Amino acid sequence: MKHSRIISLVVSALIALTMLCSCEEWFDGSSQRQEGTLVCHFLDVGQGDSAYIELPNNQTMLIDSGENYHGKSILQYIRDTGHNRIDYLIATHPHSDHIGSMAYIVRNFDIGTIYMPKVGSNSNQYENLLKAVKSKKLTIQNGKAGVSILSDSDLQLSADIVAPVKIVKENLNNSSIVMKLKYKKSSFLFTGDAEKAELATITGDIKADVLKVGHHGSSTSTTKDFVNKVDPQIAVISCGIDNDYGHPHKTTLKYLKQNNCEIHRTDKEGTVSVTSDGRNYTVKTGIHSIERAR
Ligand SMILES: [Zn+2]
Ligand SMILES: [Zn+2]
Repeated sequence: MKHSRIISLVVSALIALTMLCSCEEWFDGSSQRQEGTLVCHFLDVGQGDSAYIELPNNQTMLIDSGENYHGKSILQYIRDTGHNRIDYLIATHPHSDHIGSMAYIVRNFDIGTIYMPKVGSNSNQYENLLKAVKSKKLTIQNGKAGVSILSDSDLQLSADIVAPVKIVKENLNNSSIVMKLKYKKSSFLFTGDAEKAELATITGDIKADVLKVGHHGSSTSTTKDFVNKVDPQIAVISCGIDNDYGHPHKTTLKYLKQNNCEIHRTDKEGTVSVTSDGRNYTVKTGIHSIERAR
């Protein structure tokens, strides 16, 4: 009797400890990357996009940065993972839900190389970003199809831009940088807000295990044909709770489900992280939400 009481006390203590640890993780947001892994954090920035990647070579990458009120929290999130530099900063296209916080980030952090498509905007956010880049004496690399951002054959790690193939001035979404990241046998595809017309121009390899679904899950981006070509195991949709656009669209969800892939949404699950050891994936949800913490 006494013995079983002790066991039940130990079990309760262990349960309490586990609960404490999971709460801690929500507030902390950090995941100290394990050696030999790549961690992609799809940051919950509400209706916008921002993906922060801890690479296996200990470098970091940030693709987009949400609206202009997220900069401070994004930098804190990156610091919490033990990094003080963004080696590769990618602005997929000059819409505020993608580059809003980028001027702040450039001014307040150590930045390596910046990639942007060769298309401008007369918005304040875009002009502020150019000023910030100039003031830090950084240069912008042309983010277009065929550009290799990173290639490390020893680590079997690479990042290649597959679009834009052609700049479309009338529709900034269709000038989005689309990038494929590979680590050993695993692969990720980041699509910005590229719509059907841009995605159809891609000639590079777009097959990927993890897909950042285009344009916040809009039906203007995801086609059945595109999902078949990418053939993802995991799809992540970055969109805001009860957003005005009806993202993600039900046909997008239908095509992804028909492909039997695991769907994750930042509006429902907060920040979603996907860790790859080069072959297998671990998905974590409910990590510190940039949007909900503001
Ligand atoms: Zn967008
Ligand atoms: Zn856009």
